[in-house]
Amino acid sequence: MTLDPITLLCMTVALAAAAALYLAVEWRNVREPSLLYWCGGFSTIAIGSTLALLRSSGLLLVGIWFANGLLIAAHGLFLLGVGRFTQTRLGRGWWLIVPLWAGLLWLPAGPLWSAVMLASNSALVALLSLRASSLLRPHGVSLSVGAVQLRFVMLGHGIFYLAKALSAVMSGALIDLAAFKGQIIQVSLIEGVVAIMLIALSMIGSERHRREKRIARLAARDPLTSLYNRRALEVRAPHMLASASHDAPGALLLIDIDHFKQVNDLHGHNAGDQLLVALSEIIRTHLPQGAVAARLGGDEFVILLKHASVDRIVELGSALRGRFHQAAQQRFPTPDAVTLSVGATFFDQPPASLAALIEQGDAALYESKRNGRNSLRLKDWTTTPQASQRSAG
Ligand code: GH3
Ligand code: MG
Repeated sequence: MTLDPITLLCMTVALAAAAALYLAVEWRNVREPSLLYWCGGFSTIAIGSTLALLRSSGLLLVGIWFANGLLIAAHGLFLLGVGRFTQTRLGRGWWLIVPLWAGLLWLPAGPLWSAVMLASNSALVALLSLRASSLLRPHGVSLSVGAVQLRFVMLGHGIFYLAKALSAVMSGALIDLAAFKGQIIQVSLIEGVVAIMLIALSMIGSERHRREKRIARLAARDPLTSLYNRRALEVRAPHMLASASHDAPGALLLIDIDHFKQVNDLHGHNAGDQLLVALSEIIRTHLPQGAVAARLGGDEFVILLKHASVDRIVELGSALRGRFHQAAQQRFPTPDAVTLSVGATFFDQPPASLAALIEQGDAALYESKRNGRNSLRLKDWTTTPQASQRSAG
């Protein structure tokens, strides 16, 4: 089998159809609109390339003008898909491509017909591909490997079509679109086969990577507050705990809301949820750099600090308690004050485990609750304790 134009076009049809099918299956799973646009693009290429085969049967209007129009439409769909992927709105000016392409129908027949037709179609494809590539430039957000690959594949594809457009009008080489004559056409058919594979793979890769990131985020976050959940804390804690030393002591703050049930009972479960979200926002605003916060469950939260000191722990605990008490009092008044109890542990050696540390924090929290709530109880486990226990109320 030789790689004659007909064989190459058949390969293009098969590959484009396979890519469209694959993208359709992906879309069925995740319902991302970009996948549907890209699927539409490859379907259009499959149809256009099938129609292009007809030019050898003398159907020049359908086999050349219409088939090339479908190639432009396919790249338009690719661009729309990239627009959806990057959440960029495309201007209405892009619709001008339709009358431009339709105008080619009135191109006067003559020796230059093939060259002008090829140059115009190629320039439009180049324009759409280069725009799609430029949309995929990182705009302050780091792009996935798939998206970076798609960006460069579209860039290479766009540059190729630009060169094709220029060579069609500049080289003076004989181009006969009807008979697939001219080296540019041969090279272009091969580039088409390779481009389909690379574009389809990078499109699938970019959406997959985004989906995996979303799933990982969902698995690590508490759905109500968006803080880390216990599982995510267990993943992140070992590294933080292992770095604890005399010069960089660590601390854990275990936080529990006092009389939280009264909010639920008097104002409803939804109000309770709102207060939990309010607390998570207060924690987020006060979280020092390098610290990690998580919701362990119910009305219990935890903060892991790096480079801690007794003063910093007390200061943070007081700020959280002050802000929270104010918020709870204003929004959901209750017979008993809804406040925060904090049990903190301070350490300058890697603790045995996170669970052991939480247990120590729990003991301190219990003391805080027993001594009237709305206070911070600190257990200092450092080798040169600044004070073995400290209370702040
Ligand atoms: P204490 O002062 O001793 O801490 O008592 P408390 O009223 O705060 O109640 P406790 O900490 O023993 O129990 C937490 C309550 O929080 C139990 C449950 O009804 C409620 N709760 C747990 N998860 C949620 C949630 O996601 N939303 C709401 N609204 N309530 C929750
Ligand atoms: Mg509580």
